[in-house]
Amino acid sequence: MAALLTWNDWNAQPGGHSGSLVHGTPGARGPARRPPEGTRKRVARCAGTAGPLLAGRPGSFANATIASDFDPSRGKPPKPKIAIVTCADPRLTDIEQMLGLAHADVDMIRNFGTVIDDDAARSLVLSTRLLGTQEIMIINHTDCGMLRFVDNELEDRLRKETGRAPIAPARFYSFTDAEANTKEQIQKARSHPWIAPEIPVRGFVYDVSTGRLKEVFP
Ligand SMILES: [Zn+2]
Repeated sequence: MAALLTWNDWNAQPGGHSGSLVHGTPGARGPARRPPEGTRKRVARCAGTAGPLLAGRPGSFANATIASDFDPSRGKPPKPKIAIVTCADPRLTDIEQMLGLAHADVDMIRNFGTVIDDDAARSLVLSTRLLGTQEIMIINHTDCGMLRFVDNELEDRLRKETGRAPIAPARFYSFTDAEANTKEQIQKARSHPWIAPEIPVRGFVYDVSTGRLKEVFP
C-alpha cells in the first residue's frame, strides 16, 4: 500500500509543447499566445518574491501594475466555444496554450482529479445550455495526485487527525488508472440528460513529462 503523500511531494515539471487537438483536428495548433513582454517581466519579478504570495501583503500585488495595461475588451460577455474539464494540478494551468486555443474560446472547469461530479455536471450544463459551448473535452493526466491515495485511507487519516467526521465531501474520487478513469468520466458526461446528445464529448490523458495528449475512447 502506497504511503500518503502531500501535495508538496509532487514534482512540478512543465511538459514541452506538442501537437494537440483543436476542434477535432489532430495536429492543428494556433499561434502561441504569450503575454506582452512588459507583463512577463513584471510577473517574473513578482514570482521571485520570497514568502507567502498573499498573506500579509495587502496592496503589494503586481496586479496594480499589470492592470494598467488591461485591455477593456476582455470585459465583454464571453462566448466560449468549448468546455474543458481538467485537473486543478498546476501543471495543467496552461492547457489552452498546450492546445493552441485562445483563452476566450475556452470555458475551463477544474477540480482535483478531473471528476464529472455533481459540481462539474452543473458547470457543463450551464456551459453548454447558457454560455453556448459546443464541445466538451475531458483531460486527465499522468502522475495525478489522485493516484497516490485511496479514499477510505485518507478519510481514516483525516478522522484521526481532526477527531471529526463531516458529512462532506462524500468522496474524494481517487483512482488507480488514468485512462480507465477518463472513460468513466466521458460516460458520466455523455449520459447526463441535460447535456445535449449533439455535443461531442472526448477524453484525453495529458502526459506531464512530454506535454502530449493521448485520446481515450469510451
Ligand atoms: Zn491531477
